[in-house]
Amino acid sequence: MLINQTGQYDVVVVGGGLSGMHAAIESSRNGAKVAVISKKKTGKSGSSVVSKSIHRFAPTDLSMQSVYLKKALEAGRFINDRELMKVLINKGSDSVENLLLYLPSLYFNSKSLDEMLYSNISYHNPKKGVFLTSKIREYIEKHTCISIFDGFTAVEIMTKGNSVCGLIVENNNELQYFSAKSIILATGGYAYIYKETSTTNDETGDGIAMALRKGLPLSDMEFVQFYPYRVVSPAIHDIFPNLFSEGAVFLNEKNERFMDDFPNKELENRDVLAREIFKQKEVFLNLDNCSVPYLLKESPELLKIQEKYPGAPLKVVPKAHFSMGGIRIQSDCSTDLGGFFACGEVTGGLHGANRLAGYALTETAVFGPIAGRNAALYAQSKKQEDITPGAAFLPQIGQDDIKPIKRQLRDVMWEKAGIVKSKKTLLEAQTTISELKSLLGKSQPYKLKDWVEAYNMLNLAAIMIESSLLRKESRGAHFRSDYPDENDAFLGNFIYQQGSDMDFNKL
Ligand SMILES: Cc1cc2nc3c(=O)[nH]c(=O)nc-3n(C[C@H](O)[C@H](O)[C@H](O)COP(=O)(O)OP(=O)(O)OC[C@H]3O[C@@H](n4cnc5c(N)ncnc54)[C@H](O)[C@@H]3O)c2cc1C
Repeated sequence: MLINQTGQYDVVVVGGGLSGMHAAIESSRNGAKVAVISKKKTGKSGSSVVSKSIHRFAPTDLSMQSVYLKKALEAGRFINDRELMKVLINKGSDSVENLLLYLPSLYFNSKSLDEMLYSNISYHNPKKGVFLTSKIREYIEKHTCISIFDGFTAVEIMTKGNSVCGLIVENNNELQYFSAKSIILATGGYAYIYKETSTTNDETGDGIAMALRKGLPLSDMEFVQFYPYRVVSPAIHDIFPNLFSEGAVFLNEKNERFMDDFPNKELENRDVLAREIFKQKEVFLNLDNCSVPYLLKESPELLKIQEKYPGAPLKVVPKAHFSMGGIRIQSDCSTDLGGFFACGEVTGGLHGANRLAGYALTETAVFGPIAGRNAALYAQSKKQEDITPGAAFLPQIGQDDIKPIKRQLRDVMWEKAGIVKSKKTLLEAQTTISELKSLLGKSQPYKLKDWVEAYNMLNLAAIMIESSLLRKESRGAHFRSDYPDENDAFLGNFIYQQGSDMDFNKL
């Protein structure tokens, strides 16, 4: 396919979520000529936009920092990347200062820097990511020279020697080439591989699959967090977990409070709760014991739903929510490929086997600027390379609709490789994935973007299954019904690199 040359940049950031925007701003502040390329609208896409905007920055007090770390390691079942965790903690206050510097008008529930760190949880009010992401986009437009390319899907990274030199991008079925001295991937996770997901449909793991094709290692791909707090009917609504401290309960179709025997009831770790919900036939949120003034203050939307649909049960379904796996990075967000950086949910390792609430947005605020700064510094020492770009794996454009392939993949991943897995179900999923891969290989899509997404999703799904099969235990968000217990022989990370067998890094 013909590839048009589009522009030359010091730094190209791929992804218009919070990680990408933080990275782009910091690159630009360090003097780089920056472009942001985003599959959907920058500041209006990715998990960032649908998030609850809850951040949980590490406090500066050392003893409180150790509590912060302990909690993260317990949730991650002790396989978190300790170096990345150190950065998340040590740079917490810098990132708050940074946020307030370029977003002084932001309203956080805690007023001052000290208070934000001390109270250890800060959210933008109202609790909707879009208020935060739109403000940051506005800042980019008003106060920087960053070029934004919305509706552009990154397809392949181009390299010369052991360094990046540009990026092939799809837009309206046409390919374009962006020359870049540094590239920052901030394309989010892969939870959209599952039929039931709380993420947006752009979370197809593209960045992770692109890194894989460049020979970079991925880690922890078997770990996906399932979110147990979503009402799906009569209207979609994410439950604020604090409701469960104020009288809300989950009941099954027999009107039983199935979490009654668990010490933390409905506030058990997300993976425990998601699994218990998955085991029931149907689950409903019951608010009979929640006070109306509390609901009015914290969850007015739920009252509105009840008013609009009087007597309708609030049905709950767990959703694939966050990917713990992804690209392995160094603590400065670099990789083994010169000029190639990654930040945010596209990376793997920080959260180990499961993530705590508020730690993901903090990750974007901490690692986004680090990637941005280092990518800009790297670009200063490089010259723009001249190459002839190409991506041999891409198909001819034709008449085929690729959506059914994606749908089948998402169905099988949900049924057989999701909240509860076993050798039997994983092998069944593996067979379907091979069939779908061969179907995709023979297809000529009428929409190239769909084909690229399906290609990436299928390749990642195969790796997720391989590492799920090898992890013969249950740990964090990964649950095997044939190995229901945690086993210290698996205290470590499965690392996958194209062309090699899955490696196990024991800790
Ligand atoms: C419903 C929900 C609520 C959440 N609430 C919270 C919360 O309150 N606190 C918390 O800590 N975490 C929360 N999370 C998790 C958190 O929102 C995410 O981990 C975080 O926003 C990820 O940010 P990101 O910038 O790395 O990726 P994203 O925000 O997912 O952005 C990815 C970007 O990359 C683009 N992209 C993808 N592929 C390509 C491609 N091939 N080419 C170009 N662009 C591409 C996308 O369009 C998007 O712009 C929540 C998640 C969900 C789903």
